[in-house]
Amino acid sequence: MDISYIVNELAEDREQYFNAIAPPIVQASNFAFKTVDALGKAFEDEMGGYLYSRGLNPTVDILRKKLAALDGAEDCLVFNSGAAAIFAGVLANVKSGDHIVSVKNPYSWAQKMFDVVLPRFGVHTTYIDGSSLENWQEATQPNTTFYYLESPNSWAFTLQPLAEVAAFAQSRQIITMIDNSYATPIYQPVISAGIDLAMQTATKYIGGHSDTLGGVLCGTKAMMKKIFDSEYLNIGSGIQPFNAWLLIRGLRTLPARLDRISHSTVEVFNFLKQHPAVESVIFPFDESFPQYALAKKQMSGACGLLTVILKTHKRESIVKFCESLQHILMAVSWGGHESLIIPKCAGIPAADFDPSNPEHRYVRLYIGLEEPAYIIKDLDQALS
Ligand SMILES: *Cc1c(COP(=O)(O)O)cnc(C)c1O
Repeated sequence: MDISYIVNELAEDREQYFNAIAPPIVQASNFAFKTVDALGKAFEDEMGGYLYSRGLNPTVDILRKKLAALDGAEDCLVFNSGAAAIFAGVLANVKSGDHIVSVKNPYSWAQKMFDVVLPRFGVHTTYIDGSSLENWQEATQPNTTFYYLESPNSWAFTLQPLAEVAAFAQSRQIITMIDNSYATPIYQPVISAGIDLAMQTATKYIGGHSDTLGGVLCGTKAMMKKIFDSEYLNIGSGIQPFNAWLLIRGLRTLPARLDRISHSTVEVFNFLKQHPAVESVIFPFDESFPQYALAKKQMSGACGLLTVILKTHKRESIVKFCESLQHILMAVSWGGHESLIIPKCAGIPAADFDPSNPEHRYVRLYIGLEEPAYIIKDLDQALS
């Protein structure tokens, strides 16, 4: 489907609301019925219409339809955060005694679910280097029912061969889910690669303005109905109408923002790569990136994240660099208008900092919508 149609027109029935260009925020918790029969039908199938906004809501539905189309999926559920989407997607598809194979170093709250929550219910997880199909096959046990992917994953941007892993999983009736937050479906279509559940945090690129959280789960109609009827309604973690409206607004400019960010990121990458104070830069579209060929095959764009390793083994120097930036903000998250920096060492007690471990020296940079020269100037003065 045409991306311009999806972001500008799809699911927008403007005649229903005075031909307003922007859709209304239906800020209602409940919906009224004329007959007992109609109410009874809504109880039977809550996904069939509007009953109560913990389930469906008209503003949220506009967003659901657009996001499903963006992913090339049959249907979509939108949650009030990416973490909630991960939680529901996994929980709906495992039961006591099941085994999960996950890429190592998934998003921190996915890992927390695998390490802390699920073991209490008899579900155990093995983490693997997911870069080759053989590693998935070797880790698969007779009771493996679920594969969890994140490609590229944060900080090191390691990739998994999506179509290969999905095809093998299908042959074993194993459900696959991917965190596709880094590339978004615009740059990395995952449903057409055979993945069952496409998740992304809408907090990052979809919202795009660092002013709302949201989480997306796309898949078949049957899968979405299964999740809606239990986890979605039960946990009550669906997105609120106003936040859905902000995400519809964010979607309008998503292609333009990704385009701008991708171009700026290459400029910043080229600057960092040649800088004498920089040891290396990790970026999937760098020709020397170990999985460059796979990155080019699976992704049509690489967005705005890169990881820098400075030519220093001292924690103080990394700290000084980060604290010397005058425009680039130090914060978690990414995908907004503003460029951001986050050093790995912020999450490691100073006494445990190991200078011989390159990961401890990682500094992740997110390139926002500023002029690239403005970002480069700030980095340059902090590096010197
Ligand atoms: C931020 C993030 C999430 C979680 O999304 P929230 O909306 O913050 O809950 C999941 N995966 C990745 C890769 C993220 O960066």
